[in-house]
Amino acid sequence: MRTQLIGDIRIDRVVDMEGPFAPLDHMVPGAPAGLIDANAGWLRPRFVEAETDKLILAFQSFLLRTPRHTILVDCCLGNDKVRHDRPQWTSRQGPWLDNLRAHGVEPEDIDIVTCTHLHADHVGWNTRRVDGRWVPTFPNARYVFARTEYEHWAAEARAVRANPDLPPLNHGSFDDSVLPVVEAGQALLVDSDHQIEDAIWLEPAPGHTPGNVIVQIQDPRGRAVLIGDVMHTVAQLGAPEHSSRFCLDPAQSAETRLRLLDAVAETDTLVLGAHIPTPAAGRVVRNGDAFRFETGEG
Ligand SMILES: [Zn+2]
Repeated sequence: MRTQLIGDIRIDRVVDMEGPFAPLDHMVPGAPAGLIDANAGWLRPRFVEAETDKLILAFQSFLLRTPRHTILVDCCLGNDKVRHDRPQWTSRQGPWLDNLRAHGVEPEDIDIVTCTHLHADHVGWNTRRVDGRWVPTFPNARYVFARTEYEHWAAEARAVRANPDLPPLNHGSFDDSVLPVVEAGQALLVDSDHQIEDAIWLEPAPGHTPGNVIVQIQDPRGRAVLIGDVMHTVAQLGAPEHSSRFCLDPAQSAETRLRLLDAVAETDTLVLGAHIPTPAAGRVVRNGDAFRFETGEG
């Protein structure tokens, strides 16, 4: 993704991982058979691998640089983590930190971190392992979490601790990538419509998780929205009523997605998704009863 500018705000992406992930019917159960063929003209090969028909997914953060702050939205998978039931996410030695530095940003430069929700693939780089302990990766940052989201998972964590038969919460990520930030005193629990700056704020987007949020960036000179996991793959634009298998409340997730798509379709709003692969950003346009994605890059 080339740097996107919304007024004085620069948006870049920092990739942790990108590649073919899974077929549509695995990722979005109930999606109509034939959806990819019907939308092949804009889906293949950028968003769907032609040979295997697997969806291509990215795991990425967005870096926002404003005149006042350096802000990171979502923290991907992280390195050195042990992830119950996720061998491909375990003991990773990925290049994310180098990718951040390639933008001229050191961990110490980050003022604000926010996670759209607290799943394992959005909190990983919140922490890193130093001398066998998990410490906040960004020593000078305030980590902004929606209170509804944090309290949901904190309650789940108590239930897990009370029942040793339950698997580690969110593959183990709550304990090694969320709690150490809270224990270091760097977490700020906020309302789901929290204003980060005049032109940047959170907006509630429940369904994928109870306290899921998106990040709105609006300036008289442009608009962008960081949609997190409100849509996991742009293939869902062809059948937006179908939610991913990872959504805790699929019906509410669909309602949130449809409302968002109606708001951004046929506008100049730049849509950036946590899992939308290269170039990660585009515009939503109507396509019959559904939608499609226009990246503006050949
Ligand atoms: Zn995700």
